[in-house]
Amino acid sequence: LSEKQETMLAVTVDGGPCAIEVPKPERKETSDVLIKIDRIGICGTDLAMFRGYNSEFHGIVGHEFSGTVVDSDQYSWLRRRVTSSINLPADLKGTVDWKTAKHAVGRRALGIRGIDGVMAEYAVLPEGILVAIPDNVSSDDAALAEPLAAAIDSVDRLPEKDGQVLVIGDGKLAQLTVRVLLYRGYDVSVWGHHKFKLDLMEKAGARILSVPAGKWSFSQVIEISGSPSGFDMAFEAVKPEGTIIADSVLTDKHPVNLSRLVVDEISIVGSRCGDISDAMQMLSEKQIEVNDLITDIFPLADAEIAFERSQEKDAIKVLLST
Ligand SMILES: [Zn+2]
Repeated sequence: LSEKQETMLAVTVDGGPCAIEVPKPERKETSDVLIKIDRIGICGTDLAMFRGYNSEFHGIVGHEFSGTVVDSDQYSWLRRRVTSSINLPADLKGTVDWKTAKHAVGRRALGIRGIDGVMAEYAVLPEGILVAIPDNVSSDDAALAEPLAAAIDSVDRLPEKDGQVLVIGDGKLAQLTVRVLLYRGYDVSVWGHHKFKLDLMEKAGARILSVPAGKWSFSQVIEISGSPSGFDMAFEAVKPEGTIIADSVLTDKHPVNLSRLVVDEISIVGSRCGDISDAMQMLSEKQIEVNDLITDIFPLADAEIAFERSQEKDAIKVLLST
């Protein structure tokens, strides 16, 4: 006897940015929880998935979310609002240490490789990656905890705990990074291209450069422009013995002047993904405001329109709601 399979709306790599009907996922392990998804953030990585960023993955995209646990063997998780970290080791047992998971061999990543993401009405996730959402953090704001964690990770990698920092870029991650820097007391200068986005950064307390940063002008640079020219500017602007935190995942190889790197003793430090619990604490303690970065909320069924909107110049974070 075959029961009729329950379905749900979801955005898959193969379905493009449209929400389509797919089978509703079921818990397989006792450690799995079923989550009713509430909000999902649209991220550059989701767009990259449609362009073939990982052609082996065909499942549900999305990794920035908030939701409520609706089925779990653990009474303590039931009916709790949660989000989760993005990386999982190949074989997950118990709680995941986010730092170990980030570089685990055979790593899986929500909506990117080896495990379905959360751009759907429901998701089944192992309880070991869950992070509880405090009562005083809204479900909208909680969906930004993952990119906020990435911003915290790049700021944590700066060699000095204060002083001047040049941020190159004005997109979603750059906005969050600037706010973390300002909260930590750094003197922040920004180079970007979009007036609406730069105005927001200026309002938050950053200095907006009207001409590109000069040669050898900053000892600390965070490059988040997403473009090769942004990296070239960072390399030009960094002082001898300075550090560039590289956040842009450039799809093509990009040349670096190694003789300048060696002679001027430049450090280039990569950064990706951070500690969601840290980000949630920053939100809960109201150390950082993120709500004004949410420019639009669309129903999941209108995912295609939402993806288009997310690429417009005056859009920052676009959320989907179920
Ligand atoms: Zn993301």
